[in-house]
Amino acid sequence: MTVDLPAPAVAAGAATQVCVRHGQPATRQKKVIFRSYTPKWAYLLILVGVLPFAIVAAALQKRVKAPSWPFCQDCGRLRTRRFLIGVGLLALAIVGAVAASALLPANDSTGGPIVLVFVLMVIAGLGVASTAAYGPIASGYVSNDGNTVHIRRAHERFAEQAAAIRAAAPQPYQPYQPYQPYQPYPPTAPQQYAPHPHSAAPVPTHQQPEQPYRDR
Ligand SMILES: [Zn+2]
Repeated sequence: MTVDLPAPAVAAGAATQVCVRHGQPATRQKKVIFRSYTPKWAYLLILVGVLPFAIVAAALQKRVKAPSWPFCQDCGRLRTRRFLIGVGLLALAIVGAVAASALLPANDSTGGPIVLVFVLMVIAGLGVASTAAYGPIASGYVSNDGNTVHIRRAHERFAEQAAAIRAAAPQPYQPYQPYQPYQPYPPTAPQQYAPHPHSAAPVPTHQQPEQPYRDR
């Protein structure tokens, strides 16, 4: 399940007692930076050039720093496993490349495909190793508006405690408060509408409260 948390609460240090994936008590707290995905339309800029794409992607990226995000022992084992698999792939690629260059010194016809295989192994190894970082283990990402941290693969116990964070955090309601100040402005309009059904009598009573508000 995916659990949503208000980004300001996460950045302010709100965290659960259990880890995201396993719902087990945290044995360590680590700083994690959650990032937003690059909007799909931005990839069109690659047609213009890699540099414009990189600049726009970096400018659009929303980051939320969680100062102390919980991880359990199983999270640690998962990190170790991914890291070893990634490093293992890199080692295999290097060993294989060295062996191939020794065994096939002058064979150009098979050299190209073999090099490609090793390059793909290096890319795969780096890719797997990069998922061993705390951010991917936490498997969270930021919404494109930067207001929400979405936590994927959330355990039920994490979801329960996350619900408590959502309930306790005053921050998520601040984005909605800007909409409440707009309501006082319509009330001046509805007060004009209100007198119509009540015809003559209510008009003075509605006009009178308006004047004190203006004085304040
Ligand atoms: Zn865990």
